Amino acid sequence: MKKIPFIQLQDEYRLLQSQMHAAITRVLKSGRYILGTEVDQFEKEFAAFLGARYAIGVASGTDALFLALKAYGIGPGDEVIIPANSYPTVFAVAATGATVQLIDVDPLTLHLDSAQLKAVVTKKTKVIIPVHLYGRAVALRPILRFAKQHSLLVIEDCAQAHGAMYNGKSVGTFGDAGCFSFYPTKNLGAIGDGGMVVVKQKTLAKTLLSLRMYGETKRYHSARAGFNSRLDELQAAILRVKLHHLEKGNQKRQAIAAYYYANLPKEVLLSSVRHSNEHVYHLFVIRVPKHRDKLMRYLASYGIETGIHFPFPIHEVKAFAHLKTSSFPHAEIAAKEVLSLPCYPQLPLSSVSQICALVKKFFA
Ligand SMILES: *Cc1c(COP(=O)(O)O)cnc(C)c1O
Repeated sequence: MKKIPFIQLQDEYRLLQSQMHAAITRVLKSGRYILGTEVDQFEKEFAAFLGARYAIGVASGTDALFLALKAYGIGPGDEVIIPANSYPTVFAVAATGATVQLIDVDPLTLHLDSAQLKAVVTKKTKVIIPVHLYGRAVALRPILRFAKQHSLLVIEDCAQAHGAMYNGKSVGTFGDAGCFSFYPTKNLGAIGDGGMVVVKQKTLAKTLLSLRMYGETKRYHSARAGFNSRLDELQAAILRVKLHHLEKGNQKRQAIAAYYYANLPKEVLLSSVRHSNEHVYHLFVIRVPKHRDKLMRYLASYGIETGIHFPFPIHEVKAFAHLKTSSFPHAEIAAKEVLSLPCYPQLPLSSVSQICALVKKFFA
């Protein structure tokens, strides 16, 4: 049987080869490799794609979150609420010196459980970070309402959700900032690291432009101790090519998800989270109580690669053991049960069909 990799980027490269090579050559010939027209153009194009006002390219998704928090002055003494199952998000919060306040997840969606906000908010809470995990749009309404009542900021982690919609509008455009990653395997991926922050206000956009470049307002005029966090021209040029194919890629992911939904045993589907074309399925995640690791090995024995996102809730990661003061049972259980099946635009439906058949056979 042919191997089915968990992710495979070479086919997309082959498809876009001539455009990608032309983009790379354009950058090489320009002699401008940092903060030039490619980044300018890509920021405009990405903002237009989302329906966002301002987009600021930065060095990674982690930096996008970090700089968005810094732009709002978040730091030591402030508390930031993040879901307990979102491993990558925590690093950006920790880097600001703010206190990480974990919140458990809804067992049906594995997204931040908005019903628990009331229990975890304190006088020091400044920000809620909903994470559009797996490319599924978080139900933002109750979170935005709670944030408004308590004068909190909402910074959306959209690292897995480029193009996901909530009530017909792109995620990332609801909160006080939307943060994206262009890590190569994301729905929109560079050939290296990259990230983007989108915001609604011009003053905030200016702050972010300055923060990514030593805090400068103009060259060598630094008003604050900023950072070096720039999206480079080469990545921006590649991302401009790939942005044209994002929607089609997301539609392919939706078709794969629809196939999984129709053909996998009901018990393994994230319960009551119905398939929707508002989601962009960065990952297709099932839940396997009891035999998750066995299923993983079983599929591997047929050459099918799977993944676990993520194997530990944040408070069970060594660096964040100090957050273990409370328990987050739904996140803890989920970490033991989640299994990510292959889901990417170049994956043929015939492979998806094989995977479904094997999962069914495993349970039979
Ligand atoms: C990938 C990811 C990030 C971090 O993005 P990088 O570009 O790898 O720094 C943050 N949050 C989530 C949910 C992610 O999936």
